[in-house]
Amino acid sequence: MPMSKDYHQRLMPKLKDIALEFGTPFHIYDEIGIREVCRQFKTISDKIPFKQYFAVKALPNPYILEILFDEGMGFDCASIPEIELASLVGAHGHDIFFTSNNTRQDEFEAAFRAAAIVNLDDACFLDTIYPFPELACFRMAAGSLDQKCTFMGATENSKFGVPYSELVETFLRAKSLGANRFGFHAMLCSNQRSAEMVLNTAELVVNHALQIAKSADINFEFVNIGGCIGIPYRPEEDSFNFPVFANGLAELHNRYFDDNTRIYTECGRYVTGPHGVLVTTVNNIMSKFRTFIGIDAGMSALMRPAIYPDAYHHITLPFVNRTPIIADIVGSLCENNDKFAIARSISEPQHGDLMLIHDTGAHGAAMGFNYNGRLRPKELMLRQDGSVMLIREAETTRHYFSTIPHIDMFPH
Ligand SMILES: *Cc1c(COP(=O)(O)O)cnc(C)c1O
Repeated sequence: MPMSKDYHQRLMPKLKDIALEFGTPFHIYDEIGIREVCRQFKTISDKIPFKQYFAVKALPNPYILEILFDEGMGFDCASIPEIELASLVGAHGHDIFFTSNNTRQDEFEAAFRAAAIVNLDDACFLDTIYPFPELACFRMAAGSLDQKCTFMGATENSKFGVPYSELVETFLRAKSLGANRFGFHAMLCSNQRSAEMVLNTAELVVNHALQIAKSADINFEFVNIGGCIGIPYRPEEDSFNFPVFANGLAELHNRYFDDNTRIYTECGRYVTGPHGVLVTTVNNIMSKFRTFIGIDAGMSALMRPAIYPDAYHHITLPFVNRTPIIADIVGSLCENNDKFAIARSISEPQHGDLMLIHDTGAHGAAMGFNYNGRLRPKELMLRQDGSVMLIREAETTRHYFSTIPHIDMFPH
């Protein structure tokens, strides 16, 4: 969806100067917009025992994490580097929720060193983690549920979590290994823009948690309903009704729990997704079987359109208003799926125009890669005071070669 009116108003008067100073391409994030999302989550913790853990994979930049931590969010981490990022901004202990899968022992050790809440993805870890944590939290598999939960695709193929039918035994074994505190986790939907659907899913998770708790004779300190909240990528899509969600979640909590049980979320996309844009420059306009608009960024800066067939990103030319044409918007990789849009109607671009790709604040820079020697772009942040800060340099060949040993030994 086009960036918010507010972000548009903040960014546009400065954008040409920013592009001149820093050079395109770059992702630029809106500090004010991100802080506003944090305050939405605060309306829930004002009502009930609740914490939101930012899914670090969405935007793993410490300058962004610092803001989120300052606003009271914790971090959902899945790897040692993500734990280190969270630690870098001061998160420790229950500010970190470690949800990984196919986890290695050294990853568990790093999570325990950070005193994180460790969420276990499989019953095999009952036999392999030593010492077994005092706080046992398991992820419930989506595929095991009676109810049809198809938001995550073919759930019976999913590698994540412990099947519901095995959870009682799993928690009982955890108890016999010395666990005396318990948590429950499930992530059953993704990019869901209906508050009612997210609430229904939350209730489903809570019901399953309560059944397990009863059968295993344990109490859950928290139920983590996962990430879930969606954003509108297309202009015609509605945005998520957060107040309905906040009120509904508080009501759900009060219906099922007392103040000894907390509800957690671990949203990523919703927190930063709409608050980033990828700013590029039109390089080449090519006409053959169709019109191709070549820009100075490619899928190495934003992979979603190339790997998810339905992934739409809104694209605009902010400073021109010409008759629209139909074109593919492409990068420079030697892969034909290196396209930001196919047969898109867009105001006719000219060489040198700035072109914006919207909603790149989550899974944009984060999914970057450097296949084909295409290097990742820089990241900027538009601060609250209107200044612009470089929060990640563009990759250069220096970074590209940095993992090659003894590079100075080569003849040239
Ligand atoms: C990706 C992920 C999230 C975040 O999901 P969003 O859709 O970005 O909110 C949360 N938890 C887990 C376990 C994830 O894999």
